[in-house]
Amino acid sequence: MEGRSRRGRGSSTTSRSAVIFIWGWRTRGSHIGDGEFYCPNEGGDRRYRLMQARRWFTLFWIPVLPLKVLGEYVECTSCDEPFERKVLDLPTTSQMADALRTALRYLVVAIIRSDEKVTNAERRVALDVMGRFHHGDYALIDLERDIAELEVDGIDEVVARAGATLSASGQERVVRACVELATADDEISDADLDIIATAGRSMGMTPAHIKGVLDEETSRGWLPPRTT
Ligand SMILES: [Zn+2]
Repeated sequence: MEGRSRRGRGSSTTSRSAVIFIWGWRTRGSHIGDGEFYCPNEGGDRRYRLMQARRWFTLFWIPVLPLKVLGEYVECTSCDEPFERKVLDLPTTSQMADALRTALRYLVVAIIRSDEKVTNAERRVALDVMGRFHHGDYALIDLERDIAELEVDGIDEVVARAGATLSASGQERVVRACVELATADDEISDADLDIIATAGRSMGMTPAHIKGVLDEETSRGWLPPRTT
C-alpha cells in the first residue's frame, strides 16, 4: 500500500503548440513491513513501519510512472520520525534487558559454583543483585534452578553481548555486583577473581579499569587487599 508522499521535487513546465505540460518527480514511500524497534527520538521501544522509497514521474503533480527504488527507511509509528534502516541494528530495550539478565544469571551461577558450596549469604546477595538489575522478577526458585541446571559455557560471549548495550558505568555496576557476590561468604577466591576479570574483559573493560573497580571495592572493605 502507498504511504504518504515524502519530499516532493520541484516540477517544471514546458510548452509546445500552446499546450502546457507540468511534470516532475516525487518520492513516495510504500509500506513493506513492520516490527518493534528502539526509537532514538523517543528513547524507548516502539512499533516501526519499514518503508521503501521510490521515485515517481508526475504529470500535473500526479504520480503516473514508478521510477527507480531509492532505498528503504524506517518510520516510527509513534512519533512518525524517519530513520535510516540501520536503526534496526540497535537492540530494543527489552532485548537489552534480556541480554543483561542472561549475563547476570551466568555470572551469579559461575561465582556461586566457584567454591563448591552454596551459602545463604550468597543466595541473599544473588537475589539482591538480580532484583537490583531486574526489578525483582527473579525469585529464589529461579536461582536454585539456575544453580542446579544452568550451563555457563560461553560466558564470555553472553557477557560481551550484554556489555555491548551498557554504558561504562553500567559495566562497572556489573563488575561491582560480581565482587559483592564473590565476597558474600567473606572469602574471595582466585576462581572468583578470574570470573570477575573475565566479566570485565568480555564487556571491553581494560585490565586497568577492572583493577580500578576492584581496588575501589577493596577500599570499601569488600576485599582483602591484594598486591597482584
Ligand atoms: Zn518514535
